[in-house]
Amino acid sequence: MKTCLLWFRNNLRIHDNSPVSYAYEQYDRVIPVYLYPKPTTTGDWNEAGFGDSRKAFLDQSILDLQVTLESYGSRLYVLRNLEAVDLIQIALDHNAEAIIGGVEMAYNETVDQKNIKAEGKSSGIFVKFLEERTLFNERQLPFVLQKLPEVFTKFRKLVEKNSTVLPTIPAATLSSLDSSTITLPYEKIKLTALTKDDRSAVPFEGGERQGLKEVAYYFKQTGHILKYKETRNELLGRDYSSKFSPFLALGCISVRQVYEDLKQFEQEFESNESTYWLFFELLWREYFQWVALKHGKDLFLPQGLRPDKPITEGFNQKAFERWKNGTTTDEFVNSNMRELSETGFMSNRGRQNVASYLIHDMGIDWRAGAAHFENQLIDYDPASNYGNWLYLAGKGNDPRPFRKFDTVFQANRYDPEKTFTSTWS
Ligand SMILES: Cc1cc2nc3c(=O)[nH]c(=O)nc-3n(C[C@H](O)[C@H](O)[C@H](O)COP(=O)(O)OP(=O)(O)OC[C@H]3O[C@@H](n4cnc5c(N)ncnc54)[C@H](O)[C@@H]3O)c2cc1C
Repeated sequence: MKTCLLWFRNNLRIHDNSPVSYAYEQYDRVIPVYLYPKPTTTGDWNEAGFGDSRKAFLDQSILDLQVTLESYGSRLYVLRNLEAVDLIQIALDHNAEAIIGGVEMAYNETVDQKNIKAEGKSSGIFVKFLEERTLFNERQLPFVLQKLPEVFTKFRKLVEKNSTVLPTIPAATLSSLDSSTITLPYEKIKLTALTKDDRSAVPFEGGERQGLKEVAYYFKQTGHILKYKETRNELLGRDYSSKFSPFLALGCISVRQVYEDLKQFEQEFESNESTYWLFFELLWREYFQWVALKHGKDLFLPQGLRPDKPITEGFNQKAFERWKNGTTTDEFVNSNMRELSETGFMSNRGRQNVASYLIHDMGIDWRAGAAHFENQLIDYDPASNYGNWLYLAGKGNDPRPFRKFDTVFQANRYDPEKTFTSTWS
């Protein structure tokens, strides 16, 4: 009986998931495993750990996959405090000949991939990672990765002209698993009760089923997508933007599925600037994924992608705490930071403003802010988070030399009636 470990990473779903399909097609016995993430943030900012909202969304997403796998008579084994290479021993213990997983783009995750492949080679375990996280596979990019443009617009134009988004793949036929043959502990995720703040822009839980419902909600059910371009810079509520990001970050929904549903919506109903704009934003996500893969650990260095621009900002714990707790002298920044700590979410407009304020007004090292976002955001994704922070710090892929937001001007423009600030005062 051919056996493999199916290693779920940030692809917590069954639909359009190439590692899942490959594992169930190629192997008779599939053992699904998940390594519960160890918070990776270190440094001098006291930011280790996960915020409550981030942890809750992650746990809900894992539990949802556990429930799905159980419905097929299988199980998702959630393993704690293990390194990726420990999976080799688990494979050997279970007479598995292979480990199958999804490709990740950020540095630590790619190091895991390399290490486990090397260890697999010396232990006789076949290790294979399949792409599922992006609209395009690396082979389809119209340039080799090292030639990825350093400016988004150039990237966008090239892929729009030369690359086609890959179609989704049919759902795999899952098989059951005789758990009596498994020596791993089985831990069903227990959710910690977390009272939802009724002001939350993300009033739903994590998981594949909810993610697919949200796509249907934003497109067909409400048609909110049709005015996305006009509303996307707003600050309050569920509907001004898609809120797909937490599902995309954990892979509860496939970005190609979102694209396909968008195209279907355009065919059946209407296509306008807003429907295009959602695709445009997905291309931003796409871009940062490839930037992360190309630049590896540079994404996390103080000078980022710009060795010619050494960091000049410093660190002041007290000022940093004021920013985190929403007690600076800027009410707009404070309201956004309160929303983040209460819900684990913040609008894109809010993120740009609070990041700019921390770096350019408070003079604090961008990495402290990025680490705090990493701790808090329910949609935390290393490529998008560090890519955006570097961009705002002027050490990433921004053609402009300096990007500072005037937070007072921004508050007047985007919150003229002070509805947002009074909601989060
Ligand atoms: C400092 C900073 C940190 C950020 N950290 C993250 C992060 O950790 N994870 C994350 O997913 N996004 C991050 N973003 C990008 C963006 O703010 C969120 O993706 C967006 O606000 C999520 O809301 P939405 O799903 O409703 O977005 P929508 O406006 O509906 O956009 C649709 C999708 O496009 C993608 N997208 C949109 N804008 C961006 C962008 N600027 N960069 C990358 N992808 C984008 C997301 O996948 C999003 O779900 C960050 C932005 C800034 C300025």
